[in-house]
Amino acid sequence: MQTQACQALDRAHHLHPFTDFKALGEEGCRVITHAEGVYIHDSEGHRILDGMAGLWCVNLGYGRRELVEAAAAQMAELPYYNTFFKTTHPPVARLAEKLCDLAPDHVNHVFFTGSGSEANDTVLRMVRRYWALQGKPEKQWVIGRENGYHGSTVAGMSLGGMAPMHDQGGPCVPGITHVRQPYWFGEGRDQSPEAFGRACAAALEERILELGEDNVAAFIAEPVQGAGGAIMPPASYWPAVKAVLAKYDILLVADEVICGFGRLGAWFGSQHFGLEPDLMPIAKGLSSGYLPIGGVLVGDRVADTLIEAGGEFFHGFTYSGHPTCAAVALKNLELLEAEGIVERVRDDLGPYLAERWAELGDHPLVGEARSLGLMGALELVDPATGERFDKALSAGNLCRDICFTTGLVMRSVGDTMIISPPLVITRDEIDELVRLARQALDETAHRLVDQRAAAPSATLHAEETRA
Ligand SMILES: *Cc1c(COP(=O)(O)O)cnc(C)c1O
Repeated sequence: MQTQACQALDRAHHLHPFTDFKALGEEGCRVITHAEGVYIHDSEGHRILDGMAGLWCVNLGYGRRELVEAAAAQMAELPYYNTFFKTTHPPVARLAEKLCDLAPDHVNHVFFTGSGSEANDTVLRMVRRYWALQGKPEKQWVIGRENGYHGSTVAGMSLGGMAPMHDQGGPCVPGITHVRQPYWFGEGRDQSPEAFGRACAAALEERILELGEDNVAAFIAEPVQGAGGAIMPPASYWPAVKAVLAKYDILLVADEVICGFGRLGAWFGSQHFGLEPDLMPIAKGLSSGYLPIGGVLVGDRVADTLIEAGGEFFHGFTYSGHPTCAAVALKNLELLEAEGIVERVRDDLGPYLAERWAELGDHPLVGEARSLGLMGALELVDPATGERFDKALSAGNLCRDICFTTGLVMRSVGDTMIISPPLVITRDEIDELVRLARQALDETAHRLVDQRAAAPSATLHAEETRA
């Protein structure tokens, strides 16, 4: 299909997620047609290095025949059956076993969903039922974090702390509140990172005391915030948070939808940070994005109570444990394991990216370059002041659009540029990624800074609106 024909159909009928429909209609979409390894291709013949692994999910990279064959074989055998009404099937039973094998020791059960958002809806249902069964039905409040992301269903967006989402379609689910995020560059530079990390944990404790410890069910957080801007907490943060939660007997929910399946160089982000979460929502990299599947890994404490107390848990999805999705997820985990990909991220690719990525910190536009495992962020600042650009300039979006034209997918969250490439990326491809990122930064600087002196602001504004 020709680019324009595809764009026309899309414009006429397709409402995209997280999109200004009208603006997109005027601009038209890039059409992605095929992909292999770490590269995507568009309908105009451009090859683009996918620095975002799709949407944080294509951990094994594109074009893996084994996953295609696992799906085809399962579809021929049993394309669909439900897991309600006392039934199961081999792929879901095997996947459950494999996941619990990879998860921390105290995790021995999994509840399947179709996505990460549904996983977090499940979390909310589970923690409230858990405390009710414990004879503490007043333990209902769930504390999330500002700028945290837990999906886009009503419960997911309520648990998340994305203000623009709360402003649309509310009111949010009651009984959820948010505390400050451990975002040192954005909010803590007046202190050392370590002092700031402790202050964030102290803010959590303060909120618990305000709500009353007997009323707080759980704290939910991503080990590293993804959609919020690839925000790695200061080293002091997680140990201090763990201590607070233990002190008041509050469940920890570690949202592993991005951090899980090797992103940080461990099977789960919780293992990297030494967390022992009670619940771990998963999705995305679980199937390397080849088919939609999510779930909640449930620690013994919660699982034992849900099981022992008996009584039906009135919750589940038509596609909970979908056999084809489960078969693909299982094959995906087997390949990650057989190819030693998680270890390679930990021992080789993560450290290599850290070294190369840090070099971008010397670019005049970059206020901070940080990475962990195969996740990285660049904070764009105005070289004249070392502070953020005027928001109206949309520096991040401009840089993102320039990246696309230089041949790199790098996402912008405000003026934070983020990457999360497939875990199968090579050192050479990391070199290419860093080179393309620098090229895009140069061009962004040229458009925002060099032209500022020369161009009247009207010209600059015309550029931005297009971006
Ligand atoms: C993407 C994401 C979700 C939501 O997953 P969907 O599959 O899009 O519903 C939840 N939590 C985190 C941390 C995510 O990154």
